[in-house]
Amino acid sequence: MLRRTQILALVFAVAAVPALAQVQTKESQAALTPAKTLDLLKQGNARFVAGKPKKRDSAADVKATASGQYPYVAIVSCMDSRAPMEIVLDQGLGDMFGLRVAGNVIDTDILGSLEYAVKVVGVRLIAVVGHTQCGAVKGAIDGADFGSLTALLKNIAPAVSASGPGTSKDNAYVDKVAEQNVRHSMREIREKSAIVRQALDSGKVGLVGGMYDIETGKVTFSAD
Ligand SMILES: [Zn+2]
Repeated sequence: MLRRTQILALVFAVAAVPALAQVQTKESQAALTPAKTLDLLKQGNARFVAGKPKKRDSAADVKATASGQYPYVAIVSCMDSRAPMEIVLDQGLGDMFGLRVAGNVIDTDILGSLEYAVKVVGVRLIAVVGHTQCGAVKGAIDGADFGSLTALLKNIAPAVSASGPGTSKDNAYVDKVAEQNVRHSMREIREKSAIVRQALDSGKVGLVGGMYDIETGKVTFSAD
């Protein structure tokens, strides 16, 4: 017979071992709503900021996801090496689609990828996440002009215009343009994809914006 103190010690010992993260299944994906999915991202970012990411068994996760994927979110974010969403939101294999392009701009290829994520795979949320001190935003403010980058930066021009006058040396201005740019990308997604728009209007899928702070590691979502 175990004494009460021994039982308590056992309970605490079990509770102290962090549970392994589980990969997504058709059922776990179907059980989510856009709001619950956003909560998962917020919780993941809180773990990242606290330096306490989920414990994962990568070899087991590779095996468990090999037969199919049931990610719950598609995230459009910048290519910036300091802003990988899988890491800063503590997401695992099979949890999210990561669509990365300088300045988190929207083009036909990104729209097509989002349509696949929504219509074929069944994600519950689309997020556009910009970040502070974005080099692409600075380039758009400065009118950088070379190669194919010129055409890419044109996608950020509306956010620069909407932010009024300013320079790329002014950090607050750069971040203001980046925030405008997130809103612009969100509008583009809604306006330019009938497939995504229908999914948003049905309420099955949500659309949220966010900003990643490269100094604190925190992502602030626009629904906050
Ligand atoms: Zn950037």
